Amino acid sequence: MNAYRYPATRHRRRHGPSGYNDLESFRPWLRDEFVFRCVYCLERETWSNLVAAFALDHFSPTSIDPVKRLDYESLLYACRACNAVKGDQQVPDPLKVLLADDVVVYEDGHIEGRSRDAMRLIAAMQLDRPAYIERRRLIWRMLTTAQQYDPVLYRQLLGFPKDLPDLSRLRPPSNTKPKGVEHSFQSQRKRRELPEMY
Ligand SMILES: [Zn+2]
Repeated sequence: MNAYRYPATRHRRRHGPSGYNDLESFRPWLRDEFVFRCVYCLERETWSNLVAAFALDHFSPTSIDPVKRLDYESLLYACRACNAVKGDQQVPDPLKVLLADDVVVYEDGHIEGRSRDAMRLIAAMQLDRPAYIERRRLIWRMLTTAQQYDPVLYRQLLGFPKDLPDLSRLRPPSNTKPKGVEHSFQSQRKRRELPEMY
């Protein structure tokens, strides 16, 4: 189990809600879409237990692309630290460049890009600055210690949050990918298909 392993392939969206006129309505969809963690640094909700610690990030800054403010396809789920660093920058798309083959995270907390775009994004987002390195080191230590001495804590750290959003109850004005709801984590849990950890 490697909490800092980036996805193997480019992300293809499972959900397609649209027509909401406020940003917050997208939150449950984005939490589910991006598996309750920051697309940039992989910080998880369960490590802070505060959903409020996560921001709904506009991939194209709204100052540059105001029409996309409420466009699901351009929204990402990010921790507040990454969202703040990103600010109004236009950066390479994390869903395309932060991939397992192109990014290595070492046990000492350092992160390294192996493609040009991954290196550019890591630099732009300062993912290798001391605060992030320290954070990864701390999480590594918590995970390895918990794995050895506290299996309940280990499952909690790598498990899904308890409050999985129930997307089947939501009524977005429209949804281009209604089937995605069946694949949501809450639906998987109901079918008893949800893995214990990820
Ligand atoms: Zn982050």
